[in-house]
Amino acid sequence: MQKTIAIVGAGLGGLTLARVLQVHGVAATIYEGEASADNREQGGLLDIEETTGQVALRAAGLFDEFRTLVRPGEDAKRVVDQHGTVLFDRPADPGSARPEVDRGELRRLFIDSLAPGTIRWGHKLDSVRRREGGYDLTFAKGSAARADIVIGADGAWSKVRLLLTPAEPLYSGTCFIEIALTSSGHRCRASVAAIGSGTLMAVAPGKGIIAHRYADGHVRGYVALNKPEEWVRSIDFGDPSASLRRVADEFDGWSPLLTDFVTESDAQPWLRPIYALPVGLEWDRVPGATLVGDAAHLMSPFAGEGANLAMYDGADLASNLVEQPDIEAALTVYEQRLFLRGSDAAGRSAQNLKDFFGPEAPHSVVTLFDHS
Ligand SMILES: Cc1cc2nc3c(=O)[nH]c(=O)nc-3n(C[C@H](O)[C@H](O)[C@H](O)COP(=O)(O)OP(=O)(O)OC[C@H]3O[C@@H](n4cnc5c(N)ncnc54)[C@H](O)[C@@H]3O)c2cc1C
Repeated sequence: MQKTIAIVGAGLGGLTLARVLQVHGVAATIYEGEASADNREQGGLLDIEETTGQVALRAAGLFDEFRTLVRPGEDAKRVVDQHGTVLFDRPADPGSARPEVDRGELRRLFIDSLAPGTIRWGHKLDSVRRREGGYDLTFAKGSAARADIVIGADGAWSKVRLLLTPAEPLYSGTCFIEIALTSSGHRCRASVAAIGSGTLMAVAPGKGIIAHRYADGHVRGYVALNKPEEWVRSIDFGDPSASLRRVADEFDGWSPLLTDFVTESDAQPWLRPIYALPVGLEWDRVPGATLVGDAAHLMSPFAGEGANLAMYDGADLASNLVEQPDIEAALTVYEQRLFLRGSDAAGRSAQNLKDFFGPEAPHSVVTLFDHS
């Protein structure tokens, strides 16, 4: 292919796209806003699905390397009520079809697989404009680039999306606050033991505490609270311990075994309001431009599919571009499939979010896991 391809964003979607193109001998440049691969903590675990994420890893020729990143035992799931009573307990499955890997390690695998110079770090896209036969990209630090094809892999607040649709993410009504026990885990041994070997989900209507225990014993997770957007805007987390106490106050009457995850947390308590694009979002074809991953179908994490779909989108788009010489035909076929899978997963994710913290929690969560 003689066309120049600009991919905006080096998340899992953009990286998979570039990698699969390169496997087929097609060059692409990724413009990434962050200064380097190590700029930001990329932690957190991802279940890699057999029919999406794993398919993409095979297309990228990285499946064997991916298997070396799998964390055996950490796929165990436990659901408890606010008193810590176990309602659902699924032990780890050594042959799991959805093995868990660390997001940072997976991203690093893709970064290291690309030809040197593929990623232009420190290139935060400011604007992209269509011109005759292609696109002009302008970056925050004043540099510019031209490309025949531009692909937005720039996540939730995508700038490239503006070429295709005015749709914007909407606040879901649920806000996450990050928690962790890195150095203080030894002070809360009973709480850490209550997790089991994988993930503990303590849920009730409107709130929850989700904690994952890593093999080395440290714990990372989230507090989830159903709160209006004004509450999210009004919160000032300047003083971490006062903020954590304020968050813990929301769990009055809960077992200390669970609230210890909040009061003893040694993480900076970042607020992460959960946003989603409208379910079923579509747009009309715009020549030479499209989206992958969250930029196309941002959804709550409760279907566990966002990263999997981002990788699958990247691999699917790359395959279409290399197999079909007519670019517009390739993008049309890609988007038809993208809209279908995005809408399906986003619908499930929106329903799961309601089930997690709705009036029937925690029993609705047990039902969800019983059927998964
Ligand atoms: C708490 C939480 C838990 C989750 N758990 C799971 C899970 O278990 N399983 C799962 O499948 N998914 C999960 N997800 C969803 C998953 O994280 C996302 O769907 C996935 O990261 C999307 O990948 P992406 O490549 O599309 O976007 P991103 O990962 O957001 O990557 C976008 C990239 O673009 C860059 N960028 C942004 N703007 C610009 C710009 N203007 N110029 C240049 N670069 C830019 C960013 O720096 C970033 O590197 C979870 C999400 C959250 C919030």
